[in-house]
Amino acid sequence: MINKKRLVNTFKDLVKIDSISRDEKKVADYIIKKLKKLKLKYKIDNSNKKTGSNTGNIIVYKNYNSKQGVYLLSSHMDTVVPGINIKPITKKKYITSAGNTILGADDKSGLAIIIELLETLVEKKIPHLNIEVAITTCEEIGLLGAKFLDYKLLKSKSGIVLDSTSPDRLVIKGPSSDYFSIEVNGIEAHSGINPEKGISSIKVAAEIINKINIGRLSKGTTLNIGKIDGGSAINIVPGKTTILSEIRSHDESKIKKILDKIKKDILKIEHKYKKTNKKFSIKFKKNRIYDSINISKNEQVVKRILKASKKINYLTSTVETGGGADANFFVKNGIKTVNLGTGMREFHTINEKLILDEFFTSAEIIYNFFTDV
Ligand SMILES: [Zn+2]
Repeated sequence: MINKKRLVNTFKDLVKIDSISRDEKKVADYIIKKLKKLKLKYKIDNSNKKTGSNTGNIIVYKNYNSKQGVYLLSSHMDTVVPGINIKPITKKKYITSAGNTILGADDKSGLAIIIELLETLVEKKIPHLNIEVAITTCEEIGLLGAKFLDYKLLKSKSGIVLDSTSPDRLVIKGPSSDYFSIEVNGIEAHSGINPEKGISSIKVAAEIINKINIGRLSKGTTLNIGKIDGGSAINIVPGKTTILSEIRSHDESKIKKILDKIKKDILKIEHKYKKTNKKFSIKFKKNRIYDSINISKNEQVVKRILKASKKINYLTSTVETGGGADANFFVKNGIKTVNLGTGMREFHTINEKLILDEFFTSAEIIYNFFTDV
């Protein structure tokens, strides 16, 4: 059994420490202080050189010479904005912010559960699975901490990320995600004196956008045109316009098919305008953000979590998500990782909440998981 009061206090301590992405050092210091007190072995990797954060990821080791193997447990330290000077307000059933900031339950609820697990295990000296903890930076800005983590520091072949809504959900499947940009290089001209010499990149961008389907394209596939940037002044036929988009799918072949069609449409449009002016061009660029995850229900880590949940008469079910998390990079690096909810709701908004019952349940499940030897 975990200490609920201590768990809540740790959570409140954590959210009161500002840690917008790339500025996680103060939270890292708080955690390291706890680790030193518990006499646990830890390392800090050099990912900050690539992520631009003021700290690396923290890796913690808690061994018990278990023959059942070693499992990874992970949460991220950074939060989104507005996340400065957060004041947690405790209501009967949940904790929320004062209303002018997020709460930061995403993902400090996960961090608090990890710290509580370590404190309980050190205190009780009971047998447990070997544990590796990865406390990451920069999750909210493209999973950068997990992307650039020093995987040589980890031996785990499977693991759990605590970074989702309710503990009745265990995410085992998530989409791949690609970022793509379309840069329309039109021809600038004076809008009043010789507009016929120009090709408006904004107008061509509209033509391209018209050809792209957005929103939910099928069950596991979504596309979003998220940002458009173009033109320089109202009296100039716009020279350059850029469209920024993302596509996600559980099915790699669908991403390819949809992007191929977009590229084909772009080529046609480019060809049409090139006839008027050879300098006209459209550039398409694509980048992988993260790869999909698809963990089998038969994996030990999945079975063990469902068992740990059943032990407290709670029902956790496996689900798919449309989102990405550090788990995507752990999977890419050979660690079969699932994502368990911690009780957070409406995260990334000023209405963010942490449902206390679910928070305790999630912590109990994690405790049961690691003490089932
Ligand atoms: Zn998160």
